[in-house]
Amino acid sequence: MPTQKHGATPTVLISRRGADRLRAGHVWVYRSDVVEAQCVSPGALAIVKEAGRREPALSLAKGRPHQTGSSDRNVRATRPPGILGSALYSTASEIAIRMISSKPVGDLEQLLRERVRAAIAYRERFVQNTNAYRVVFSEGDFLPGLIVDRYNDILSFQVLTQAMDSEEMRSAFLSELQSVLNPAAIVERVDPRVRRLEQLPEKESGLISGTKARTEFQMNGIRFEFDALTGQKTGAFLDQRENYAAAAQYARGEALDVFCYQGGFALHLVRSCEKVTGVDSSRPALEVAEQNAALNGREIEWIEANAFDLLRDYSDAGNKYDYIVLDPPAFAKSRRDLPTALRGYKELNLRALKMLRPGGILVTCSCSYHVNAGDLLEVLSSAAQDSHRIVRILENRGQAKDHPSVLGIPETAYLKCVIANASQ
Ligand code: SAH
Repeated sequence: MPTQKHGATPTVLISRRGADRLRAGHVWVYRSDVVEAQCVSPGALAIVKEAGRREPALSLAKGRPHQTGSSDRNVRATRPPGILGSALYSTASEIAIRMISSKPVGDLEQLLRERVRAAIAYRERFVQNTNAYRVVFSEGDFLPGLIVDRYNDILSFQVLTQAMDSEEMRSAFLSELQSVLNPAAIVERVDPRVRRLEQLPEKESGLISGTKARTEFQMNGIRFEFDALTGQKTGAFLDQRENYAAAAQYARGEALDVFCYQGGFALHLVRSCEKVTGVDSSRPALEVAEQNAALNGREIEWIEANAFDLLRDYSDAGNKYDYIVLDPPAFAKSRRDLPTALRGYKELNLRALKMLRPGGILVTCSCSYHVNAGDLLEVLSSAAQDSHRIVRILENRGQAKDHPSVLGIPETAYLKCVIANASQ
C-alpha cells in the first residue's frame, strides 16, 4: 500500500553513511544503511530520517528534480527538521530505499502522474528523428523502478520494484500514459529475475491494454519491425539511437557489425557502405535483422556465430574491413567481474584493430556500468599498442538523451561508445 491512505506514513531511520549518500545527491540507500524500518510494508511510501539526528537536516544540493517543491505540487513546501525526504521502500532488494522526494509526500499517485507528464515533456523537447524512445527511465526521471519505452503506437513497460508493482501505482502511471500518449496498445515486459529478487509474484509478459502487439517504428529515417510479444525481451536498443546516426557519418567500404542484434548499426551503415556483414549468436535476433533489412530494401549478410570465435578465425585468416562495430552485451554485471570483462573487451578490440585496413573506423561500445569511460579508453589504448596502430578518437559518446543520466546518480550513466580512426 504505497500511498498509506489509512494511516500515518511510516518512518525509516538510516545511518549517517546512508544520509551522507543522499546529501551527496544519490537517491538510493542500501539495506546495510537502514537502522530501523519497523512495520514498513513492501513497496510502502516512507519518511526517511537519519538515526539519532535531531537538529534540522543540512540543506541539500540545489536543483535536484526530486527536491523541487515548487514544481511538485504534491509535496509539502518545506521539509520538517530531521527529515531527509520520502522514499519508496523495498523489503526484498539490497536497495532498500529509493528516494522520490526531499519532502513529505501528500498524494503519491498525483506526484507519479506529474513525473510521468514531465518525462514525456522532456522527450518532446530533446528527442528527434524517431517515434521510438524511452519515455520513462527509472531514476533518470525520478520514477524509480519504472521503465517505459515507446515503439511508434505501442508502449512497453517494465516494473522493477515492489512499489511500482502495486495496484495504485500501476493504475496511476498507466492511465497517465494512456491519456497523454494515447497508444494503440500497452504491453508489460516481465523480467522473471527482477521479480524474484523483489519477491514479487511470478507473471508473464503480455498485453495490458489494446490488442495490437506488432508495429513498425523508425529512427534516423530507417524502418524497424517491433513485435512486443515474440521479439527478444528488450525490443530495440534505443539507447544507441544517436550513436547509430553518429557512426553512419563515417561509413564507407566493407563493414562488420559484431554483436549486431536486430541490425541497428548495420542498417545505418549499409546506406553508405559497399558491403555490410552482421554477426550475432542469436538466431531470432538475426531473423528480425533480416526482416528489417528487407523493410528498408537493403542487402546485408547475417552470420550466426560466437563473436569471439569468428573474430579469431577471421583475423587469423587475414580478413580485412574498413569499418568494424563492437557492441557486446554487458560483460561486467558487478564490480567483481571487472578484470574478466576488461580482458574480454581487450581481446575484441585487439582483433578488430588488427583487421582494420589503414584509415579504418572502429566503433567500440560498452554498456557495463562498472566499466567506466576511462577503462574503455585504456583497453583501446592497450589494444592500439599491441596492434601497432595509431588510433585517433573521433567521438567519445554516451547514451541517447531519452536515457537521461543525472549528476549525483552515477548508475544512470552506463553506455560508452567510442568512434575512432585507426592508421598504421
Ligand atoms: N548492436 C546491437 C545491440 C547488441 S546487444 C544494436 O545496436 O541493436 C548484444 C548482442 O550480443 C545480443 O544480440 C546478443 O545476442 C549478442 N551476443 C551475446 N553474446 C554473444 C557472443 N558470444 N557472440 C555473438 N553475439 C553475442
